[in-house]
Amino acid sequence: MDQTTDLDNAVSLEWIRAIPKAELHIHLLGAIRPRTALELARRHRVEFPVDSLEFWTPFFCTGNLAQFVERFILLFPLLREKEDFERVGREVFEDLHADGIRSVEPRITLTSHLLRGVSEEAIGEGLAAAACYAHETLGMKVRWIVDFPRILGLQVGRLALEAAIRGIAWGVAGFDIAGYEGPGEDDPAYCAIFARAREAGLHLTAHAGETGPPEHIRIAINEWGVERIGHGIQASRDSDLAEELASRKIPLEICPTSNIALGAVPDIYSHPLETFRQQGLRITINSDDPSLFGTTLSREYLIAAAAFGWDRETVLKIIEEGWLAAFPPHDLYKQSEC
Ligand SMILES: [Zn+2]
Repeated sequence: MDQTTDLDNAVSLEWIRAIPKAELHIHLLGAIRPRTALELARRHRVEFPVDSLEFWTPFFCTGNLAQFVERFILLFPLLREKEDFERVGREVFEDLHADGIRSVEPRITLTSHLLRGVSEEAIGEGLAAAACYAHETLGMKVRWIVDFPRILGLQVGRLALEAAIRGIAWGVAGFDIAGYEGPGEDDPAYCAIFARAREAGLHLTAHAGETGPPEHIRIAINEWGVERIGHGIQASRDSDLAEELASRKIPLEICPTSNIALGAVPDIYSHPLETFRQQGLRITINSDDPSLFGTTLSREYLIAAAAFGWDRETVLKIIEEGWLAAFPPHDLYKQSEC
């Protein structure tokens, strides 16, 4: 056995970390430093159910998406002022940079802050300042994606859309629908929201087929016209759909640990991502909520590589796929204005 060759081809955490990577599916608050969250809760006198770092990850790994969302929304009141948004953004970017990430598309649920009375200027200015820091000091690309939770209904969806369009001025490049997939996905009003987002020059993605049926993925790609699918793992239950995703080269934003932590799959070995890869689908690896699930993007690659026996070449190809599937900035946004 040629041990040198084996070692040369070994996929280790250090090796993955050293490669510049693009992160396409990460929620800003899902990447908040736990210590910062607890500090903000104290400062703003917000009652938060976790008061010690050791209970942080167990609190969020609920094994159930609906319960997770109920806990995730407790993070929103922790951010109130421009300084909070800037601080959280800067810290998240520092952590991602240390993990080798050089391009990131953080999702932000603007409406969940606006509806609590936080000013749009405070959010925009804080996040823009954090993105400028990432760009100028860390050499990272940042494109914000505004998402809206389906559970809050279409009115909030329209509010999110208008805020996202105004947000193009401070770096919003994409639009997304998120959260628990209930009935009503085929409501034509969703089509109108996505059509208006597209007309405004925003790139489109959608959390679909995370726990919901394959039909939700079909609606997202055929009726809403999204360019990528967040998760999409339920396509494994529909071979025609998987074939369509492969032939149309629609990237899937796969988040392995998130799917395990929230019970979408029992373990990494049951995850369809390797089957998808072998079927020719465009797979990207992402972390979703790294702080809440106790992971990093590099660790997500390592977990999949270890489970499916990927060599370095395979990992490099998937990392490349992440770069190729990244959204460009909006035409009207100039990061040079930082
Ligand atoms: Zn997500």
